[in-house]
Amino acid sequence: MTGMQIRKPCWLGSGGGAEAVGAKFITGEVTAIHRDGNRVSGVEIDRKDRVNAAVIVNAAGPYAARVAELAGVTIPVQPVRQHLFRAFLRTAASKRHPMIVDPSGVHWRHDDPQRIDEQDQIIVARTKLDEPPGENFACDMSRWEQDFFPPLRRRLPSLSDYTHVEGWSGLYEMTPDHNPVLGSAPDRPGFLLANGFSGHGLMMAPATGKALSELIRLNHYETFDLTPLHVTRFNKNRPFRDDATL
Ligand SMILES: Cc1cc2nc3c(=O)[nH]c(=O)nc-3n(C[C@H](O)[C@H](O)[C@H](O)COP(=O)(O)OP(=O)(O)OC[C@H]3O[C@@H](n4cnc5c(N)ncnc54)[C@H](O)[C@@H]3O)c2cc1C
Repeated sequence: MTGMQIRKPCWLGSGGGAEAVGAKFITGEVTAIHRDGNRVSGVEIDRKDRVNAAVIVNAAGPYAARVAELAGVTIPVQPVRQHLFRAFLRTAASKRHPMIVDPSGVHWRHDDPQRIDEQDQIIVARTKLDEPPGENFACDMSRWEQDFFPPLRRRLPSLSDYTHVEGWSGLYEMTPDHNPVLGSAPDRPGFLLANGFSGHGLMMAPATGKALSELIRLNHYETFDLTPLHVTRFNKNRPFRDDATL
């Protein structure tokens, strides 16, 4: 399963579950992180309000390095643009198939119609490994014809008759080895990192929440040992590589 298949109600459900056990959601931008000596002690929100906290988890996605800097911590997480295209099929596909990964790196899946009268659609993605870092949200529609559609047409000609295509781009939160940085920030007690999922964070979210909650409560991991994903692996030249990453 890819995280793309997890629908919004699932996330709303987990938010509701957190509130049911006492979590409180506050909307606003973290504009400063306060310290008491080396230890973090709270956050400033929207340059005015203060929330005291003995533990702060940086979960700022593509903006994680910027938030870490507020705590005086440097992490190797960069925003990198990623495109997705949605093709609306002229006729509904005769059967549904699982997500397909072409050796070219182009991968696609059906997007199940939400309404009975909705056109059958496929969502197509491809990671451009030389995409420059930056907060670039511009969708380059020419990439559909150039990079995305040719491998799809070659592999599954029956899916290549579409009426129109929509494009969209968002930001991946990339680390040098394309895997997350998890755990305590070095020399900043109380500041935890849940960052750098490198485009796979939906899938990893439940396990990350579980592992970090253990780290906060017990000061060590219990269910999975995630120490190989600590941010210091980069200084130690011990990247965590995963050949199956798209
Ligand atoms: C095109 C595309 C396709 C993807 N497909 C998949 C997929 O198929 N499977 C998968 O697993 N993952 C996928 N991902 C990746 C996935 O979306 C991310 O890895 C995941 O959302 C990361 O979760 P996060 O909670 O760490 O960060 P985010 O979801 O980015 O959330 C970070 C939040 O922090 C907030 N924030 C930032 N700075 C501040 C601040 N100073 N103060 C307060 N709030 C702040 C942001 O507004 C945001 O709400 C895809 C991403 C893209 C762009």
